[in-house]
Amino acid sequence: SKQLGKNTFSYYSKELHEEALRKTSILTGLKDAIEQESFDLHFQPKVNLSNGKVESAEALLRWSRDNPSGFMPDEFIPILESTELIHEIGKWVIDEACRVCKKWHDAGFDQLCISVNVSSVQFMRNSFKTHVFNALKKYDLAPEFLEIELTEHVLIQHNATITAQLKSLKDLGIQLSIDDFVTGYSNLSYLINFKVDTIKLDKSFILELNTSKNHFAVVKAVIQMAHILNLNVVAEGVETTAVRNILVNLKCDFAQGYLWSKAVPEKQFIDSLESFNKV
Ligand code: C2E
Ligand code: CA
Ligand code: CA
Ligand code: CA
Repeated sequence: SKQLGKNTFSYYSKELHEEALRKTSILTGLKDAIEQESFDLHFQPKVNLSNGKVESAEALLRWSRDNPSGFMPDEFIPILESTELIHEIGKWVIDEACRVCKKWHDAGFDQLCISVNVSSVQFMRNSFKTHVFNALKKYDLAPEFLEIELTEHVLIQHNATITAQLKSLKDLGIQLSIDDFVTGYSNLSYLINFKVDTIKLDKSFILELNTSKNHFAVVKAVIQMAHILNLNVVAEGVETTAVRNILVNLKCDFAQGYLWSKAVPEKQFIDSLESFNKV
């Protein structure tokens, strides 16, 4: 009825208003957090499923100080992306990841790779590749140890700046990985048009692997396709040995998830690595 429609409308407008207020207050907190350097990177191991060794780590951003509400990246990254701040924090993430990776190499783990997440808006700016070059140079890190995780969204834009930057990053020797694979646009032509190295199966598929025939079928088909195209496959969100065993049988190359470790601070990561890889 009319009455109900009106109530529904005011309900939504109130909700939108609260959402806007919430966003504004997170944004104010984020600006302070950037000034105060209240962010850290945490690291989650990527395990080679053929030998059980940790060969790489994904760097995940944490707002670890002055974050009373405990906001996680899924909440605050989209807000950063809607402002200029994503470029500033993104630059810091690349620099910090290269610094830490070099530190691990100096500590004797000299084959460890590091992955960073990069938003599509970051690729829109030509200065992005310069930040990457500068960070690698600053820490004297070889480009093949750095992997960029990007989403399908980046590759379907047909944007000249993005295409040129991806090409120069690949020419330099950086690894490219497609994150959240299968949940995006399913236009696979970019797998042929861009020099991609790895695809990362989204955790929404991996979590269902041992309970849903359909999820299993998709994961199996993706791994087979990837191997024909000479791509590595990483499964994210591996929480149980049942799922790990299925992935081993499907010849999935790498996996990450709570079964091994959540993302942890730099020091804890390197300590756990000692026990992991020296068994
Ligand atoms: P993502 O890149 O898909 O990262 C995977 C997310 O799954 C991470 O959440 C990770 O902590 C979580 N995860 C890892 N293992 C498991 C598991 O076994 N089970 C479950 N249920 N979850 C698991 P997180 O750290 O909260 O990050 C969320 C998203 O925020 C990331 O998704 C990524 O899109 C974005 N993000 C994180 N750090 C950065 C960054 O430095 N820059 C940009 N642009 N985005 C970032
Ligand atoms: Ca990722
Ligand atoms: Ca992902
Ligand atoms: Ca994601």
